[in-house]
Amino acid sequence: MKPVVIAVAITGSVPRKKDNPAVPITPAEQIESTRQAYEVGATLVHIHVRNDDETPSSDPERFAAVQAGIAEQCPGMIIQFSTGGRGRDPSQRSSALYLRPDMASLSTGSVNFPTIVYENHTSLVEDMAGKMKEFGIRPEIEIFDLSHLHGARQLADKGLMDEQPHIQFVMGVQNALPAEERLLDILLKEAKHRFPTCTWTAAGIGRHQAKVMNWALVRGADAVRTGLEDNIRIAKDRLAVSNAELAEHAVLAVERHGHRAATTEEARALLGCRPIAPVQSM
Ligand code: ZN
Repeated sequence: MKPVVIAVAITGSVPRKKDNPAVPITPAEQIESTRQAYEVGATLVHIHVRNDDETPSSDPERFAAVQAGIAEQCPGMIIQFSTGGRGRDPSQRSSALYLRPDMASLSTGSVNFPTIVYENHTSLVEDMAGKMKEFGIRPEIEIFDLSHLHGARQLADKGLMDEQPHIQFVMGVQNALPAEERLLDILLKEAKHRFPTCTWTAAGIGRHQAKVMNWALVRGADAVRTGLEDNIRIAKDRLAVSNAELAEHAVLAVERHGHRAATTEEARALLGCRPIAPVQSM
């Protein structure tokens, strides 16, 4: 059975407690929510941090607290920081990378979002990619549009990224790419053309989550993505009670396709992350 990485995006920058009380906001809530998802099989956590008033934050101290807590509670789990831009000062989006998370998200182009233009100027993208390279962080390339694959190719051509990136296609963001199966085929074909050895996953936003996950699994994705960042519901008329509940559904989807959830060691090997540091004996 092929191992598939279960990635959980626990918080994001949009959902609030009023939308779903299970959205973890404080570092303590984020660590506990991640631990529960890890217990059911999640091996990669994608992290945004928030201020106490739930607005998006770039505070390195918050990232450090969540990183330390997850490393302790969830041994081996891949920790991925978001460098996403919604509600954050562009100059601060990479301010926590010095903490050397295993991975960080990297958008390689601009796109329309529901209420804003998500701006990713080439100079900003190159700056963030350079920092990830400097700190030995694996980028997860976020693809909101076909042209973003070209942006990723440029980074590799300039030596800012290697030839085997982990690529995530994001589908179903209002005003960006719709969640349509044939578009995933186009994106995947182009990604494999530009990066023949890339690993990949796809995220469906909101009600598209389970559908996009199935399309990805049919096509042999290396990872699937779930979590309250992308989707706060388990069904049209019921909120998810936790990130763990969504992660459990992802594990079941993987198993329905004849695969199994990857272990932490397998996840790290698959996505080219550092092996788990050996425990220091005194
Ligand atoms: Zn995110």
